[in-house]
Amino acid sequence: MKITCYGARGSIPTSGKQTIKYGGHTACILVEVDNKTLIFDAGTGIRKLGEDLLHDKRDVYLLFSHYHWDHIQGFPFFKPAYQRGKKIHLLSAYLPKENARAVLDQMTSPHFPISGDQIQADVNVMPMDHNNNLTLDDLHITSCALNHPGGGAAYRLEHSQACFAYVTDNELCPPKAIDYTTWDQWLKFLDGVDVLIHDAMYLDEELPRIQGWGHSLISRTLQLAKEAQVKHLILFHHDPDRTDQQLDKILKESQVWMEKQGSNCKVSMAKEKDVYHIMKSKITKNAL
Ligand SMILES: [Zn+2]
Ligand SMILES: [Zn+2]
Repeated sequence: MKITCYGARGSIPTSGKQTIKYGGHTACILVEVDNKTLIFDAGTGIRKLGEDLLHDKRDVYLLFSHYHWDHIQGFPFFKPAYQRGKKIHLLSAYLPKENARAVLDQMTSPHFPISGDQIQADVNVMPMDHNNNLTLDDLHITSCALNHPGGGAAYRLEHSQACFAYVTDNELCPPKAIDYTTWDQWLKFLDGVDVLIHDAMYLDEELPRIQGWGHSLISRTLQLAKEAQVKHLILFHHDPDRTDQQLDKILKESQVWMEKQGSNCKVSMAKEKDVYHIMKSKITKNAL
């Protein structure tokens, strides 16, 4: 299983020299396993990914955590969507199927010059099963409800060679209004995954300001990964105001904390163009 990061930023894209290292594009992750191409979220990072996939003939499975703008806004610039005969399956768990219209409905006047019906690819909404799960040949996808305003889904991909989970826009220990999944349910859902990408947007001192926004404290994400015996945690959905220097510092402190806990969980900071390979639960990391 190969995992490539095309966008790691939360809420809105950023630019400028303060965010060059980790990148400014919003959520987009490519997962390649067997002969399958899966994309998690269509934030602005999906534009570059589309260019990389122009000669790829495989179907695209595009899984959405939810339809907030930072997770869909790159889709109108996803070139494979304009390729005749290309099959793009839109998937989302825990949300009404019709919400997937948001992906195409953003392409209407006065917001965008090309309307959704001018898309040439065969874009369809693929249903999950009645348990919000899905099996694609040897790949089993399970899901869990996000603690986020308006809801959404976390995904776990299980394959004989590797296990990966994508959990973004999720508040651990949230207020009642968005408390869909408890800490213990998260532990069960994420038990022993090889690579976990998890929302880690805020610092402890920011909690009074951000409680109920549906994002996690870095400290809670670390604690969860440790307790769930995750092998490699990737901190994700960076605050647009967070500079490279600040993210470097947070990463260092997170690694030190994990080590002090006696945990074997490796910690990385999501960074555009980073590639992770998982083979029989052995994880290697390099740049694209
Ligand atoms: Zn978001
Ligand atoms: Zn959101």
